[in-house]
Amino acid sequence: MSAKGNSAVGEQGASKRANAAKRPSASPAKAPASPAKAAGTPAERAVKSSAKASATPSAKTAKAAKPAKTESRLGMVRRARKINRELAEVYPYAHPELDFRNPFELLVATVLSAQTTDLRVNQTTPALFARYPTPEDLAAADPEEIEELIRPTGFFRAKTKSIMGLAAALRDDFGGEVPGRLDDLVKLPGVGRKTAFVVLGNAFGVPGITVDTHFMRLARRWKWTDQDDPVKIEAEIAEIFPKSEWTMLSHRVIFHGRRICHARRPACGACPIAPLCPAYGEGETDPEKAKKLLKYEKGGYPGQRLNPPPDYPGRPAPPAVGVSPGAGA
Ligand code: SF4
Repeated sequence: MSAKGNSAVGEQGASKRANAAKRPSASPAKAPASPAKAAGTPAERAVKSSAKASATPSAKTAKAAKPAKTESRLGMVRRARKINRELAEVYPYAHPELDFRNPFELLVATVLSAQTTDLRVNQTTPALFARYPTPEDLAAADPEEIEELIRPTGFFRAKTKSIMGLAAALRDDFGGEVPGRLDDLVKLPGVGRKTAFVVLGNAFGVPGITVDTHFMRLARRWKWTDQDDPVKIEAEIAEIFPKSEWTMLSHRVIFHGRRICHARRPACGACPIAPLCPAYGEGETDPEKAKKLLKYEKGGYPGQRLNPPPDYPGRPAPPAVGVSPGAGA
């Protein structure tokens, strides 16, 4: 997805990169105004922050800007940590966007989220978990019934095999409980490191870096890594950030990838990270046009969960037609 997205902006890439070279504040030392301190929705704060950064050109900042290739390792680490701090202000409500009430539900929901949106999964799982609330129930289910229930998430036959297989493994090997160890989780059918870290980080409080398509794309755009392999990316990112930040960093980066730094047309002109981003100009730099590219936040709904817990840091997504909030609670 990210490779296609990058090529999709290639036509205008040359001129936009030229604009990027002229942009006012490419220096990592020149941070944008704190979005969290500004009024308005997160999207509005992002636009304001970016506009402010773009509106403050100076010879000093232009001179301070360095091509990414000359950046030292220490400079990159400092810039990366600054990006994380900025993201924390832009997305103070960053959180897992899948609905779940226990590790088993999160595990199944994460497997179902492959190649579809979290919102689609959230619309699908209430009926699934109402009928099959435990690994034992799911493992003994009629596969055809599961296929029908999860059909909206796509690849429903393969996903049925995965979730029934992992339910059987949980029943047979782990006493019906989801294990809280990476080594055990990755042995379950359909569970890779990404899924395992989602479960560990959000159901067990074990720090983990979730390298999904968004994280991979952004980590490369930000020159945190030039690796293509998720496991190598994970290892390199782990060297940049303290362990205590790993889980929230993952949420923030994924939030940013979903909302602003899209694969095909990143909204650079509305991006609060622009002054810290070596890839500024890969997307739309005009603030007004970029604002129209922002996703999710436009309606003021920063989350995709339909049945959030009481301490939910965002606001629930608008209910889809035919789905009543609370249906899975
Ligand atoms: S590529 Fe554009 S949208 Fe993405 S982080 Fe950089 S400036 Fe922001």
